Amino acid sequence: MARTPRLLLLFLAALLGAASLAMATPAADSVILFIGDGMGVAEIALGRAAAGGVLTLDRMPYSGSVTTVSSGGEVTDSGAASTALSSGYKTENGMLGMTPNRKRVETILERCRRAGKSVGLVTNESLTGATPAGFAVHVPDRDLARQIAEQLASSDAAVMMGYGSEGFVSSAPVDAAKGASDIATRLRKKGYDLVLTREELANSNGERLVGLFREGSEPELAEMVSAALARLRRNPKGFLLVVEQADVDGRPGDPSGAALDILELDRAAGTALEFARRQGRSLVLVTADHETGGLQIGNPGLLGALKGIRASAPEIAKRLNKDRSNVREVMKAEAGIADLSEAEVSGIKSAADPGGAIGSAISQRLGIKWTAGHTATPVRVFAYGPGADRFTGEMDNTDIPKRIAATLGLGGFGGPKQ
Ligand SMILES: [Zn+2]
Repeated sequence: MARTPRLLLLFLAALLGAASLAMATPAADSVILFIGDGMGVAEIALGRAAAGGVLTLDRMPYSGSVTTVSSGGEVTDSGAASTALSSGYKTENGMLGMTPNRKRVETILERCRRAGKSVGLVTNESLTGATPAGFAVHVPDRDLARQIAEQLASSDAAVMMGYGSEGFVSSAPVDAAKGASDIATRLRKKGYDLVLTREELANSNGERLVGLFREGSEPELAEMVSAALARLRRNPKGFLLVVEQADVDGRPGDPSGAALDILELDRAAGTALEFARRQGRSLVLVTADHETGGLQIGNPGLLGALKGIRASAPEIAKRLNKDRSNVREVMKAEAGIADLSEAEVSGIKSAADPGGAIGSAISQRLGIKWTAGHTATPVRVFAYGPGADRFTGEMDNTDIPKRIAATLGLGGFGGPKQ
């Protein structure tokens, strides 16, 4: 009889040992982080309306709210927000990968690389833009495109894809004597497959890939995510992939444009979720750097008119003929608006920016209003996969990389608690 409790204790001790071993094993070995630039809660609602129901994002089981202000409590720019999301440190607007006193801070991308994981950056804007760059570079000014491209080229990222070649190709004459050949050529020499068109991306077999896509030949975000995952997944130690949908930030006044951007991000997230479901070791996160536009939904019942929308306001404007005599026809065919007033028609006809006037007409029909620029309205984070339950409730943007690091078992990461 006396032996039984001892055996029981031994059994419990063994169980506890197993449990602590299990706790030491990271929940996930890989992370796919999506950032919608300017994607607030109301912008997501426009995407939902355009989809005619739930988005893929809505099927992610965990979500939370994220505050975004930069150091000193300012409304953030994309640079300070990217630094917070990448490093866990607040900084001043305009700065990337450093604190306000110019101290370099390690980013989660660098931390993952140090742990032997593969890393990648994907955006549907320039790679030297603040959001992707803030994960891999350290500069006091986000506009230093050349320096940013130099640092990206040395980041040892296995995959980098964006639109255009800003910073990567020197416009100055190549100075061979000084070895100042352009960065894109140097990357090719380092073994990267350099692709400039959607077709080249589809045909690339390179293990390391740089995409600097030419205008008119840009792949959509989901294609780039798929190509990035095909490469990053080969590393048995896992990977970090950061993906930006950059366009929502430029959409104040253009509801159909914003809705289409959300749908593009949602398709790309769907590609990542499909991968993560099969692979089982990846955490997928979708968040934003800040809200842009101060979007207010005044009459949700009217948003249904966005369903099936196919073109942004500037794209609709391109379908106007030279003297803009077809305003009514174009607005009916492209935006489903058949009741334009005479004032609206003449407004679109005479506007210096017809896309802006079209966006205003659509906004009015949808009962929505915009203020201008970035706001401090908190954004959302959606999470799926091992470790996803860490991303619930109220958090700050600086918490996100810390929680990513904790999920990956990379302890002691990031700045002070905000
Ligand atoms: Zn931004």
